[in-house]
Amino acid sequence: MNRTELAFSKKALLEEWTVKDINLKTNYMLIAGPCSIENYDQMECLALKLKKAGANLIRGGAFKPRTSPYSFQGLGVEGIKILGEIGKITGLPTVSEILDIRDIEATCKYIDILQVGTRNMMNYSLLKELGKCKMPIILKRGMCSTIEEWILSAEYIINEGNNRVILCERGIRTFEKWTRNTLDLSSVALLKNMVDLPVIVDPSHATGRRELIEPMSLAAVFSNCNGIMLEVHETPDLAITDSKQTISVETFEEVCGKTRRLLQLKEKW
Ligand code: PEP
Ligand code: MN
Repeated sequence: MNRTELAFSKKALLEEWTVKDINLKTNYMLIAGPCSIENYDQMECLALKLKKAGANLIRGGAFKPRTSPYSFQGLGVEGIKILGEIGKITGLPTVSEILDIRDIEATCKYIDILQVGTRNMMNYSLLKELGKCKMPIILKRGMCSTIEEWILSAEYIINEGNNRVILCERGIRTFEKWTRNTLDLSSVALLKNMVDLPVIVDPSHATGRRELIEPMSLAAVFSNCNGIMLEVHETPDLAITDSKQTISVETFEEVCGKTRRLLQLKEKW
């Protein structure tokens, strides 16, 4: 079988992509939330504001893949339960990262979409298990991975029977130091021509700088992506993790408004 044949041909039916009224293929995804879930009150207050500001999916990290073992590791299953509650209150689909096969079952009970982070894109045993669990999966690009390696990772999931894979470009490592990573929007434009899977963009981890979130979110629209994922906090400077790349609810609302305007413009293009 041709290497990228699966991602090409094993299409999920359009209706299978609908999660709580959001069609992950046809609706532009505006995924927002904190890098880490800190406590229940933080999530409830923030999520309700994000929904009003334009978010149609809510994110929050519970299992945090930290470079240092001494850094905050996330609230774990307790955080997943908090996000589950937020999903009920807001009526919006929820997204959270999974690091370990042993947490899949508990996480699936509470969360609508599972995320594989950049560090686990090549964790093939995790990918195979996620292929069996039938949940939509956001598969982030490995920070040092080629587009081909990324697609082949998607095929590990699709091969097991789960066709609902959303690819997420989150920047790659280059020689550049003034941004956290280098946002490769060309990968998005290329993949949108190649595979029948939604592709989203994460300007937060791609840039590491909050002043770059709006310009890169707007640039993403014309890469033909299916949405963006942004880290947002009520008090960005106080966010426990990734505060430098985290924007306020007010900034998020502006980004949403401008994105919608650009999408309308693009439709008439
Ligand atoms: C995240 O989305 O919280 C995250 C850790 O992202 P990445 O895997 O892209 O670093
Ligand atoms: Mn983060």
